Order: sequence, then structure tokens, then C-alpha cells
Amino acid sequence: MQTIKNTGYGFSTRAVHAGEEPDFREGATGDVIVPIHLSTTFARKKVTVPTGGYEYTRSLNPTRKALETKLAALENAKYGLAFSSGLAAETTVLLSLLKSGDHIVAFDDLYGGTKRLFNHIFNEYGISTTFVDATDISRLEEIIERQTKLIWIESPSNPLLKICDIRSIANIAHENNLLLIVDNTFLSPYFQKPLDLGADIVVHSSTKYIGGHSDVLGGAVLLNDEDYYQQIAYRQNAVGAVLSPFDSYLTLRGIKTLSLRMEQHQKNALEIARFLEKHPEIDKVIYPGLDSHPQHELAKKQSSGFGGVLSFEMKGSREDAEHFLERLTLFALAESLGGVESLIELPAVMTHASIAKEVREKIGITDTLIRVSVGIEDVEDLIDDMRNALLPEKFSNFFA
Ligand SMILES: *Cc1c(COP(=O)(O)O)cnc(C)c1O
Repeated sequence: MQTIKNTGYGFSTRAVHAGEEPDFREGATGDVIVPIHLSTTFARKKVTVPTGGYEYTRSLNPTRKALETKLAALENAKYGLAFSSGLAAETTVLLSLLKSGDHIVAFDDLYGGTKRLFNHIFNEYGISTTFVDATDISRLEEIIERQTKLIWIESPSNPLLKICDIRSIANIAHENNLLLIVDNTFLSPYFQKPLDLGADIVVHSSTKYIGGHSDVLGGAVLLNDEDYYQQIAYRQNAVGAVLSPFDSYLTLRGIKTLSLRMEQHQKNALEIARFLEKHPEIDKVIYPGLDSHPQHELAKKQSSGFGGVLSFEMKGSREDAEHFLERLTLFALAESLGGVESLIELPAVMTHASIAKEVREKIGITDTLIRVSVGIEDVEDLIDDMRNALLPEKFSNFFA
């Protein structure tokens, strides 16, 4: 079988075809999509020869393998692995690269679950983490210790959409013999390819944009180094953190429209950001695609787009923010992001509630900061929904 490698074909072509070339071998059926191979075990004719290399689905499964090939092709990576969730991917990477006594330098604005993993799980095994504002490169160098093994960042961050300079941080990591790991969930490989900017390993929650339909949990690891790939693959099989065949299929199906979805998410997000920027009830809008974003130029330099997540601060109290959210009809009041439907949430009370109030306020997650994952609906409908919900209470009652 020929394979669609990551050279020669454009991103959308790879998203559709990579890993799913029709099989024309004798006895094959030429399916244009990879079948869902539900079989947990694979029979062999000769004791010593596993058929096609397949033995048991935890170790290797054809549907998952197709997804891993596609994911690697999209991220310009040599190797890809698909996990049962983003956190399963992260856990397996950490188990593969670290041992007791090692130290992690991490961006202080990481996904909450990643922080919990560092602070409450790996910490128990003698692996410590120092969090730092990685948007300030000089601070990074200061906290690297002799035991530091890796730098872990996310860009743009959540929910403040801060941008880290991936290339400069990769240079610092390599000058200090460290690995740089980038969580690329927020932009997806369509808009940002950290490996091309010097990162060593990319992780994803494919639950978000890659899957894209809020119907399948998953995670991914992409990298170019064969040794690290072998180490991570070995531990993935050993701990069993694999994506199921059916979920691999759903993710493959989602990826085929990744380019189309990301373009629409971004177009809608930019229009909503501009609408909110002019609205009298809004104090501040944070979206890397706006000229007003302090790192707009860096975002333009290292990414080909700005994604579909934006945050904004409302005037008034937390109650005003809650009333606004509860008055919306199209935006679902829910955690998560990256699906075709628009989601909205109040980080202080929902996704980031576990962070102490003083810490939250210090980093900028105020009680009226609202995060939006803009979907692919008609943007006029989304803006109308927001406009109506932003009306002062007395008017919205009047119109009701
Ligand atoms: C959701 C998310 C994760 C965790 O992924 P799961 O699939 O929920 O385990 C990690 N990083 C980021 C940036 C996320 O948004």
C-alpha cells in the first residue's frame, strides 16, 4: 500500500486520506474509510507469525493505527500515538520521560487537569514542578535546575489566551538539555505545528477540535524521535491507556473536516470578538486575532490562525455575569471546547473553580471573566443571542 506522507500533499488532503488509503491487496475490499476493527485478538496461521503484525488490540489495532498515521501526518511528525484521553496521553508521556527526583518547569497558565496531574499525582512519586509565566522568557532560565528534565507549555493558554514563544522556548530547552512539550489542543495542527517550531513532543486532547463534535474523548502524542516514541509506545501498552477502535473511528471521521471547521470557528470568533469589543457592557475582550491582544504579532508569526476560543470580561458583578449566561439560548452553558456547537462558561465558578480566589485574581481570572468556544453556527444568530442576553434585565423582561 502506498502511504500519504507528510510531504507533497496539503493539510486538507492529508486530513482526508492519510492512514486511510484503500486496500487493494488480494481478498481486500477497497474500503475508502478504514473499517472499525472491533476484534480484541487476531488469529495467526503459524505459531510464530502474527497476522499482519497484529496480536492483541491493546498493543496494536488497525483502526487505531490508521488514526495514529493520520495524526502524525497532520502534525508533521514521524510518529503518532492515540490515547483514551488527553490526560492519559500526558500521563504516559510523563511516565516515559521522568523518574523520581526529576523536576518539571511548567507554564503557570496550563489546563487545570494538567496542573492536577503535576501537583497531586506525579508529586506523590517525587517529581516536582515549578510553575512560571512562560510568556516571560527570562523567568524560564532562572528556574531551570540541575534535576529539570522538561519544559511543558500550552499556547494559547486557557482561559487567558496568553501566547508562549515556542521557538525561543525550544531553544532555551535545548541549550539546557531539556525537552520541550507543547499541548497543542487549542489551535489544533491546522493552525499551529509546534514540532516545526522546535518542540520535541506535542500532546493533544483530541476530545476538543480534532474530534470536533463533542462525542468522543481522546488524546494524542506526536513526535519525531524514534527512541522516545518506543519508550512512550511501550508504556502506553504496559499501562493500557489506548483509544478504543470505535472511538478511533469517530476521531478519524471528525478529522476529515478539521480544516473546514477551524476556518469557520475562527471566522465566527473574530466577528464575535469585534462585536463584544464595541459593546458598552463589556470591559475587555481577549482574542489573539485582535490587534488589541498584547501578543498578536507573536501569534501571527508562529501560527497560521488564532482559533475559536475567546474570553471577555463583563462589567458588573459575578451575578450579572451569571444572569447573562443563563439568558443565552444558543450558547450551551458548559465546560469543554472545540465542538461544532458554541459553548460558554464562567471559569471562576466552573473550569477553574479549584484555583484559590487570590491566585485566580492575581493571574487575571476574575469573577466576570467569561470563556467562549465559538462553534460553527451562523454568526448572526450567535451575535443576536449575545446581544439579547446582554440587555439590562429590565429591557430583557420588557421584550420577553
Ligand atoms: C481538555 C484538555 C486536556 C485534557 O484532555 P482530556 O481529553 O479531557 O483528558 C488537556 N489539555 C487541554 C488544553 C485541554 O483543553
